[in-house]
Amino acid sequence: MIKFISPAKDMISDEKWLIYQDEYLISENLKLETDFTLSNGYAGIRGCFEEGSVLERPGTYVAGVFDTSEATVRELVNLPTWIPIKLFIDGEYLTLDEMTVIDFQRILDMKKSILFKKVIYHTKKDKKILIESYRFLSKSNLHRSFIKLFIQPLNFNGRIGVENIISGSVHNSKHNPRSKVKHFKTIENTCIDEDGIFLEVATRDDDLRVGIASNMHILGKGLHNRALLRRNMFLGESRADYSEFEAVEGEFIEINKYITFYTSRDVDKRNVSIMAKREMRNFMAEGYEEELKNHLDVYAKLWSQADIEISGDKEADKALRFNIFHLLSVANPLDDRVSIGAKGLHGEGYKGHVFWDTEVFMLPFYIYEYPEAARALLMYRYNLLNAARKNAEKNGYKGAQYPWESADTGEEETPRWGVGYLGNPVRIWTGDIEHHITADVALAIFEYYRATNDLDFMIKYGIEILLETARFWASRVEYNATLDRYEINDVIGPDEFHEHVNNNFYTNYLAKWNIKIALKLTKLLKEKHKSEYLIISSKICLLEDELNKWQEILDKIYLPYDRANYNSKLMEEFEGYFNKEDFTINKFDENNMPIWPEKVRLNKLNDTQLIKQADIVMLLLLLGEEFDDETKKLNYHYYEKRTMHKSSLSPSMYAIMGMRIGEYNNAYEHFLRSALVDLKDNQGNTSEGLHMASAGGTWQVAVLGFGGMHVDEDGILCFDPYLPDKWNFIRFKIHWRGNVLDIHILKDNVAIEVVEEKRKHEEELKIKVKGNILTL
Ligand code: BGC
Repeated sequence: MIKFISPAKDMISDEKWLIYQDEYLISENLKLETDFTLSNGYAGIRGCFEEGSVLERPGTYVAGVFDTSEATVRELVNLPTWIPIKLFIDGEYLTLDEMTVIDFQRILDMKKSILFKKVIYHTKKDKKILIESYRFLSKSNLHRSFIKLFIQPLNFNGRIGVENIISGSVHNSKHNPRSKVKHFKTIENTCIDEDGIFLEVATRDDDLRVGIASNMHILGKGLHNRALLRRNMFLGESRADYSEFEAVEGEFIEINKYITFYTSRDVDKRNVSIMAKREMRNFMAEGYEEELKNHLDVYAKLWSQADIEISGDKEADKALRFNIFHLLSVANPLDDRVSIGAKGLHGEGYKGHVFWDTEVFMLPFYIYEYPEAARALLMYRYNLLNAARKNAEKNGYKGAQYPWESADTGEEETPRWGVGYLGNPVRIWTGDIEHHITADVALAIFEYYRATNDLDFMIKYGIEILLETARFWASRVEYNATLDRYEINDVIGPDEFHEHVNNNFYTNYLAKWNIKIALKLTKLLKEKHKSEYLIISSKICLLEDELNKWQEILDKIYLPYDRANYNSKLMEEFEGYFNKEDFTINKFDENNMPIWPEKVRLNKLNDTQLIKQADIVMLLLLLGEEFDDETKKLNYHYYEKRTMHKSSLSPSMYAIMGMRIGEYNNAYEHFLRSALVDLKDNQGNTSEGLHMASAGGTWQVAVLGFGGMHVDEDGILCFDPYLPDKWNFIRFKIHWRGNVLDIHILKDNVAIEVVEEKRKHEEELKIKVKGNILTL
């Protein structure tokens, strides 16, 4: 129930768009800062309180602003925060932790991407005051942000002080002294235009500049924006502007805080300061109302495409929307030099690094809902292709090898050491040998092309990646002369419990697929786009001999099946997996998460058949059209019992696979588990940032699982839906080959409508619903 009474109340959307916090609990702060992060793809600000708290982790991140300094690898820099606004009543500082909070509410309005807050304070000196506020980070002009406060004294007339702050007193890893680093130094700390404040900082390694300007307007009956006192303060690393005025009982006073920011990723570093200040003047001249309107227009457009309605299940409906909200917010189709980190722009977990999470888990959402963003994400990989070439060379391979963890330079950024399940230091090998990422990127390019027909992208960029990654695999394989087969040894597959394994089925199969698609496209190019083929093949010096060699490797890559004990369709996760000690899972905790089977030694997981997350099952999903039902069923059942879901990437994939094979029992539970990962914090680490891959996975369960959407071997879009009992329908829109389709799945009926047609007369659109072909 909405508790607001100020004019902010009229701005709040309908119930289905709202995520509530109805009580202030300090222990919830860090988790909710993540859930309430606002992002526009350019920047992200964690949902801290304007008044601050003793337990908070302010986070202000700009996509692409990384630095190393004393850290072991490049980290997304925690930049100065512009959220703080301190309030004083007759000198008493209002704090959530030390005063009585009579009433409290925060609301994340997902439709508008606005964070609302209401607090009624009862101060130690017996004053009662209502503060209601809202903030947004504009999705229209990405350099602008705004905070509004409504202040109403409830039982007094008195003097109120407001301090507007840009605080540079922040650093990375606030709560972890082992890895604390301050990644920037101050360049400029000044007053602008009398009352405004400005801070410019520079990252320590690369002198990357970030300039932040802010200005505060105070409005109220009789105030006429004239304060009794106004001071602009230099506070070392921070800048503040303080103002005092007389407030009258029952009367609202409004504080408008305008913020603008620029970085030397946008303009030359000499102009960062000028641009941020100029932007501030323009923003104030145009007014926040205009910016808010533009911001809302952008969201309205995004939601009109990407919203999904689940009828009959409010919890699932809202939880899914929450995941879509963060996926929509965090993407920036205008910047193809950045991608989306595993924790979004929502926290410092995984140091802002980009993993296969983006291509495999999030990208399907963008392909079908926000293709411009999908293209930009793939362009990030293209722009770092040279770095991937250098990685391959450094490791003794050919072609292009994508890093397991990537930041801005495209070099391998995986830290070498981490902490194990028993709190012990562990060597992290993923950066050295989790090589499947290179094929994952290739597969993502193909998927994007298959769904969009974006030939321009494919010819100019996609093909080059597909060829260079195929070339990598051809150099990565080892020929086993005794067995006359090609092997890929010493890797980590998606299941990270097992390190240094040989012939991980997933990796080998995708490497094979990568080479296969490269050969297929080469043939196609030669036939249909000869001049483009000549350009690309001469650019990367691709000769016929090399292609012949690829064909030989393709025919002989080893894929381990369990031929001895089972039907040969049971895949062996890697060579020797079936010889490991076998434990199966039969107990689950209150969140329905698997409990370690008894007698498992957590430092010896390598020796067991327990697996961390979907591995073989991932393959059966990603290339589902290449496997028959029997294979899917057999492998799903075998591996399901052994999967610990120790990564949030896993439950969603099992949910979809379950539905593909008619195993509906766990689908709904896996779906909710994935949808609620951050709302319920069921992995226990939401404070570190949002689980973006799980958000993408949640969308996939809705559309690819319940919606049953998949593409068959002939490239036809198919729907084989399944609705849980309590659902009446699920409805979503997707982009498919230039058209927008509205898909309405009811219990016993599926309605598909083409709502936007961009490729008229080009070809008829064929869709399969439950095996029946429809021509639209
Ligand atoms: C998972 C990886 C994932 C990474 C980042 C790890 O725990 O095992 O598959 O890419 O987290 O989300």
